[in-house]
Amino acid sequence: MADAPATYANLPVRNHRLAASTLAIGMIGVALFAVPFGRLALGANPSFLPAFGAMTLLSDLLTGCLLLSQARLAKTRPPLQLAVAYLFSAMMIVPHLLSFPGVFAAEPVIGGSASAVWLWAAWHGGFAVLVLTFAISRPSPLRRADIARILGGLALVVSGTSVLATVGLPLLPTILVNGNYDRLTTLGIGPAILGVTALATILVAVRHRFRDPLSVWLAVAMLAATLDVTLTLFGGGRFTLGWYAARSLSLVTGVTVLAALLSDFVGQAGRVAQVNKQLELMLRTDVLTGVANRRAFESTLSAEWRRGRREQTEVSLLMIDIDLFKGFNDRYGHPAGDVCLRQVAAALEGQVQRPADLAARLGGEEFVLLLPNTDEIGAARVAERVRACVVALGLTHGGSALGYVTISIGVATSRPFDWSDSPDALIEAADQALYRAKAAGRNTVCTAGLSVPVLIAA
Ligand code: GH3
Ligand code: MG
Ligand code: MG
Repeated sequence: MADAPATYANLPVRNHRLAASTLAIGMIGVALFAVPFGRLALGANPSFLPAFGAMTLLSDLLTGCLLLSQARLAKTRPPLQLAVAYLFSAMMIVPHLLSFPGVFAAEPVIGGSASAVWLWAAWHGGFAVLVLTFAISRPSPLRRADIARILGGLALVVSGTSVLATVGLPLLPTILVNGNYDRLTTLGIGPAILGVTALATILVAVRHRFRDPLSVWLAVAMLAATLDVTLTLFGGGRFTLGWYAARSLSLVTGVTVLAALLSDFVGQAGRVAQVNKQLELMLRTDVLTGVANRRAFESTLSAEWRRGRREQTEVSLLMIDIDLFKGFNDRYGHPAGDVCLRQVAAALEGQVQRPADLAARLGGEEFVLLLPNTDEIGAARVAERVRACVVALGLTHGGSALGYVTISIGVATSRPFDWSDSPDALIEAADQALYRAKAAGRNTVCTAGLSVPVLIAA
């Protein structure tokens, strides 16, 4: 099958690579600039965290849902594992924001001020571990029940972590001292998260090799996550330059990844629509001759029948059969017979003049011409023109008394608005007329309305 037209082709993966590497270089530049000044206190901006949280929640949720539907359609596990990572991230933002002082109220809505630090650690560590499992996973079939089980497990893990970081806060080591979370680093938790995130980034790059848009943008997202953790740890405290830079970087990347995924999905949907159109055309086309096939004829006849009934117009049908075609095949061989069929089909198609007319091959050496809104006299004229046109092709046929290929045509006309008439009766009448045309010596047009075969002058 021909490739889909360029309008529906997705952006080549090298364009994704170019855009992604530009973003990656930009991010590394920002990070390099921010690290030396990471501890610079910029002060609390009350609108930053709600805006960052809402945007991250939305983009992670949409990315997760897109990947989830991809997993359901492809019935494979890897996209589901990545979807789980993004949905986990989206879910973890909620308790993180609820426990962050100053977001919904001056005091944390759940837990204490340190809960937000623990939840941040669980969020970033969990996300990296989940991406890591995705990076090393092998394609395996996915069942519907798996999705429900995994999503249920995810909700349990998020709730359990939230309870531990809030209700269980007194059980956990001290992590926040006067707004400074350096203990995250000294306790080894921060470096561990950084290590897992960096490892996941490397594995995504090495194992997926930037071969499709998803692996390109996932690598960028993981680089952003690595820089996010690095800058957060370097910042050492809330509302420092490192802290703001970390969040801004991961937000920009998250939204870019989502936009790239969306555009890729839209491109895929366009290609599917294009392929569907091609399939539909193939279903309606005769493979040998390229004219419409029996299926197309039947559906067009039924549509034109209904139109004739509504508009009180007649429908005519020409039943066409190549004369002595068996002899042609026997004499010149099947391939030459096929060439002859194609030439006759092209000649018939050339005689189709009105947009609603249809030439179709019913099978073998039988064709039809459907002529909506045409009475019997008009149809007989078209039939005679068609007969003469095939004669004019001058296709040699040694087995015919005339010496060239001819056709016989049966013409019938129906009135769909007469409720006693039917498409089957129209076909039957045209068939009977064709039978009489054959009996009358072939190379003849016969109309169903007349009892004797006639040759109608053009
Ligand atoms: P008549 O004038 O009474 O129609 O005689 P005829 O020989 O054309 O009719 P008949 O039905 O006896 O033979 C039809 C022949 O058409 C049989 C077969 O050799 C040929 N035929 C049917 N389908 C194809 C096809 O797809 N390709 C080719 N090359 N020949 C076909
Ligand atoms: Mg036949
Ligand atoms: Mg025949």
